[in-house]
Amino acid sequence: MLQAGIVGLPNVGKSTLFNALTRSRKAEAANYPFCTIEPNVGVVEVPDERLAPLREIAKTQVIIPAAIEFVDIAGLVAGASKGEGLGNKFLANIREVDAIVHVVRCFDDDDIIHKMETVDPIRDIEIINTELILADLESAESQLDKNRRRAKGQDKEALANASLLEKVVTHLNDGKPAVTMDLTDDERVLLKSFCLLSAKDVLYACNVAEDDLANGSNNYTAKVAAWAAEHHGASSCVICARIEEELSELEPAEAKEYLADLGVDGSGVTGLIQAAYKLLGLASYFTAGEKEVRAWTFHVGMKAPQCAGVIHTDFEKKFIKAEVVSYVDLMAAGSVPAARDAGKYRLEGKEYVFKDGDVALFKVGG
Ligand code: GDP
Repeated sequence: MLQAGIVGLPNVGKSTLFNALTRSRKAEAANYPFCTIEPNVGVVEVPDERLAPLREIAKTQVIIPAAIEFVDIAGLVAGASKGEGLGNKFLANIREVDAIVHVVRCFDDDDIIHKMETVDPIRDIEIINTELILADLESAESQLDKNRRRAKGQDKEALANASLLEKVVTHLNDGKPAVTMDLTDDERVLLKSFCLLSAKDVLYACNVAEDDLANGSNNYTAKVAAWAAEHHGASSCVICARIEEELSELEPAEAKEYLADLGVDGSGVTGLIQAAYKLLGLASYFTAGEKEVRAWTFHVGMKAPQCAGVIHTDFEKKFIKAEVVSYVDLMAAGSVPAARDAGKYRLEGKEYVFKDGDVALFKVGG
């Protein structure tokens, strides 16, 4: 299962957010046999408002949402790339995750010690990013050396690696994360093979004070949003980790009432999970039958046989065709027979690229 790592300076609200995520959206582990079981890893359901209407149509009780794993990567401090704090251990943890949720303190609270004494989200972001860039610089330079040595024998692969690594080193030396490099598709694939920390996609999560949640923003969050877009090609979202933690302890009806009292539409964590899912390059298709309605996770761009393989590895090899209707068409028709009558079901073959929201039934060989 793909993982999003939660990073940030100490005392910005990472653990509070992690607890909120894993308590309120905890996925039933039995449904996801390949998830990791470790204290700092939580399997979290991906909220999807399409599941409940699909359940009505399929006339079933059981809903199984998609899920992703969140990892609480505590303790990244300035100097980590030189071994400060638990330095290399944290960097190794970040290396293992597929995308990063970077929590930034955007609340004033004199009772909560700020590592840097004042609240300044851009400075905080730059501290963490500098550590990632410095660690990458060391790694990229050493990979460059190795590839240059290999390239002497005119090894084509080593030559290509070395040429891209040179560009990477220059870019990192300018203080920029590898993810912002202007690359061709092939180069982007190659860049992935270098396993750099700053090449991962990032979502900035602005942790705001309880009072600011209703506004959906404050001076700090506006700065973070602008900075993220300009310097990281990244987006941001607004959460209040403390409220989310409180919400996670309430029953759904109570939680709704509490949110209404605060003047807030919905939980910020819903948006954060959905944004992280997208950031990981994931989308969902559905199966809807009498037994259950289920969201299955696929990588954007995957074709029908691979998508069938998500359900069962055998299905990929034995794939014959998929019967597909889009969620929107199915809902507009109001029922499966009506959608069929309206000709909204399509038979798709091996080359069909799945779309988010497809409702599918696979035909597989024996
Ligand atoms: P971490 O070190 O980043 O994991 O930070 P924690 O989650 O342990 O939070 C540090 C402190 O900040 C705790 O006392 C939290 O209760 C507090 N905190 C976290 N989120 C918020 C928030 O949204 N508002 C306020 N006022 N305090 C928060």
